[in-house]
Amino acid sequence: MERLQEGKVDTLVMSRDLERSGAHCRRCGFFLARRDGSCPYCGGELDRRVDLVEAMIRLAEEQEIVLEFVPAEALADLDGVGALLKF
Ligand SMILES: [Zn+2]
Repeated sequence: MERLQEGKVDTLVMSRDLERSGAHCRRCGFFLARRDGSCPYCGGELDRRVDLVEAMIRLAEEQEIVLEFVPAEALADLDGVGALLKF
């Protein structure tokens, strides 16, 4: 998630049944997988229960990242989402 927002992801691989909620910073707009405390980047207040999957897809589209959906078993080791990074 952090890497995606830093613009370092080339291809994002998600399992088809992925459901993930997280938090969204009200001040700087960062999306976070964790939901406790405040934003680690700016200390802002967090909106909880944000749909991270939808947010990831939107970010990927904005950055023209390739999105690939695969069966859940393929990403079981990666907790449902993986990314191929740019070098
Ligand atoms: Zn923030």
